[in-house]
Amino acid sequence: MKVIVPVKRVLDYNVKPRVKADGSGVDLANVKMSMNPFDEIAVEEAIRLKEKGVATEIVAVSIGEAKAQETLRTALAMGADRAILVTAEGPVEPLAVAKLLKAICDEEAPGLVILGKQAIDDDNNQTGQMLAALTGWGQGTFASKIEVDGDKVQVTREVDGGLETVSLSTPAIVTTDLRLNEPRYASLPNIMKAKSKPLAQKTPADYGVDTAPRLTIVSVAEPAKRQAGAKVADVDELVTKLKAMGVAK
Ligand code: AMP
Repeated sequence: MKVIVPVKRVLDYNVKPRVKADGSGVDLANVKMSMNPFDEIAVEEAIRLKEKGVATEIVAVSIGEAKAQETLRTALAMGADRAILVTAEGPVEPLAVAKLLKAICDEEAPGLVILGKQAIDDDNNQTGQMLAALTGWGQGTFASKIEVDGDKVQVTREVDGGLETVSLSTPAIVTTDLRLNEPRYASLPNIMKAKSKPLAQKTPADYGVDTAPRLTIVSVAEPAKRQAGAKVADVDELVTKLKAMGVAK
């Protein structure tokens, strides 16, 4: 079974985002970029399925600027077999990403597509769901466990009230949650090997997809600064203050 893993290049999760002076977005100049953490989990899961003999080939896909090649090389160093880069300038919205992934699914006929539940830059949490709608395949989102048995995939999902298990028929779409696994680090020999793994370069036009934005970002603002806290001497003073604020009776 072939597994497709879409990986997005995003601002590294350790970097504190800076909003551009004109409020048009986050400043990405000279900041560390990395693979979206949920996508690392997706790559790891695909590799584990290959190690179990379930997956036969892992194809990593990224849509974005040419530098997304680095992200794909990371996926290849972790254990993906080959990669596809769809080069697009500027932000590509989830609907356009999903349309491109749908076209790639038509060509590649995977048994499983494992995406991250969300990209930590835009926090959209839409692409997997849109891809499921476009392909008409079943979806198991926010997965904390994936078990493949023949043409069935059992996905344990992290939902508000606890865990829900769904059974999907392949081909299927799965999105990863944080507790699914702990991604491995690529070893130095594997980083070297990844340099010679195949990486195909495509454009949205190759797939007949228009990536023009459908949304306009009105403004981007930093969260309000938190007010400094105050120390209280004892619980009585705390309760008095809370009552004064109307928080306690
Ligand atoms: P989002 O819906 O934007 O929060 O993203 C959810 C998931 O879709 C990500 O974790 C990736 O697996 C995938 N994805 C979103 N955008 C891209 C992109 N530009 N290239 C590759 N994968 C993407």
